[in-house]
Amino acid sequence: MQKIQNLINGELVAPQSGEYLENFNPATGEVYSFIPDSDERDVANAVKAAKDAFPLWSNMQKEKRSAILIRLSELIQKNLDKFALAESIDNGKPVWLAKSVDIPRAVSNLHFYATASLHTHTETHAMEATALNYTLNTPVGVAGCISPWNLPLYLFTWKIAPALAAGCTVVAKPSEITPMTAYLLSELCEEAGVPKGVLNIVHGLGTKTGMAIVSHPDVAAISFTGGTKTGEVIARTAAPMFKKLSLELGGKNPNIIFGDADFEKAVHTSVRSSFSNQGEICLCGSRIFIERSIYEKFKTAFVDEVKKLKVGDPLNDDSWIGAIVSKQHKEKILSYIKLAREEGGTILCGGEEINPGGKNAKGYFISPTVIEGLSFDCRTNQEEIFGPVVSIMPFDTEEEVLSYANSTQYGLAATLWTQNLSRAHRMSAKIQCGIIWVNCWLLRDLRTPFGGMKGSGVGREGGFEALKFFMEEKNVCIKF
Ligand code: NDP
Repeated sequence: MQKIQNLINGELVAPQSGEYLENFNPATGEVYSFIPDSDERDVANAVKAAKDAFPLWSNMQKEKRSAILIRLSELIQKNLDKFALAESIDNGKPVWLAKSVDIPRAVSNLHFYATASLHTHTETHAMEATALNYTLNTPVGVAGCISPWNLPLYLFTWKIAPALAAGCTVVAKPSEITPMTAYLLSELCEEAGVPKGVLNIVHGLGTKTGMAIVSHPDVAAISFTGGTKTGEVIARTAAPMFKKLSLELGGKNPNIIFGDADFEKAVHTSVRSSFSNQGEICLCGSRIFIERSIYEKFKTAFVDEVKKLKVGDPLNDDSWIGAIVSKQHKEKILSYIKLAREEGGTILCGGEEINPGGKNAKGYFISPTVIEGLSFDCRTNQEEIFGPVVSIMPFDTEEEVLSYANSTQYGLAATLWTQNLSRAHRMSAKIQCGIIWVNCWLLRDLRTPFGGMKGSGVGREGGFEALKFFMEEKNVCIKF
């Protein structure tokens, strides 16, 4: 069976402990590969390699760094089918989705930051005839990048691309649950011309490997995407060491449908925004608020469409929903469906585990679930479930739905469906979220600021923001 290796100082190496963890295929429930159970010794080696490589990489001409990152993106593109299949097997997502969204986006992330780094500018502030201030931006040093399992290569590259383009060297850890595509990427680094030690990938458990990266004194910045509770632990560890910190955390996103919405589009896109990637996207709208005048009509059309979604083998092109990423996560989602029942919710469709049979008989599948009859402030509507489960609720006024939308500890994304432009502006200004989509969902321009408020995170990724995060600003004041 395949054994994944760490990438340290340009070499693919075994963990110091010699120990490996089991890696499951969630669609079959079987172990299909092993990943290094790395510890602080592997992280220390990776950080040393990154530190040693920093002078070379940070002083390299931007154009040369850019060309290396573009080559890496092209190599991923060349291996699109291989990467998509690996992502699907590792994560449980449909292979068509990995091929059309995840891997192309990983290619774009690298390409985007490789070229963005060529278009930066710095500030100058003239003090009339007295002095001139100008700003120098220098890479912070070794950056630690930690990413989750839901969009494995997509989010892994969303971090390492700006870090590397900014001139930092990197020690990165993908989720232990979905390590495979980061490993495939590590196999391409040499061919792309990435110098030894510039990108190091250490696999292992969050609490051991991840924590060793966060607490290492020579790692100057931590870019983390994952759960809010983990974010808290990371902040508590990194803040006293004065590390730069970017946290992209959980969400409980409202999807608000007004009576004047384009009905067909609202229904169709809401199905996608609820259940794409098994509902395992931090941007999925899990709380759907529908204006009372169209509540029954919307409910009927929405549930009808959800019932048509095919759940099954992620390797089949006609499976719209694949497997839940792990047994543990499947149990968590089912426990929330049970809680919803206890809280008085009515399950309109789904609500159960599915057995597709055959080679998927032991896989982790849950039917797309729509719940109604819950209050906005119950636990089901306040806590992140991160699965194919949504709750629908009626509302009467803008003020009312605004208070529902803003009632959670989260503030990542919101979707609004209305043809009333004034209302769209009014609501967008008042919703406490970092990202608002009006009459669309997941329409992404990589130049825009991306991130959340409140318990959904600190800082913004995307565009020049991410490049700036991996740099220190220095003001130079010259007196005439
Ligand atoms: P986790 O917080 O469990 O893990 C995220 C990453 O952090 C993994 O690589 C994990 O490793 C690692 N990790 C866990 N504990 C520690 C620790 N103490 N120190 C350092 N690293 C640690 O999140 P999930 O992987 O379960 O991902 C789902 C969450 O991510 C959801 O809450 C979702 O909303 C959020 N998310 C947010 C996004 C955003 O942009 N705001 C985008 C996508 C997801 P390991 O898995 O090996 O334990």
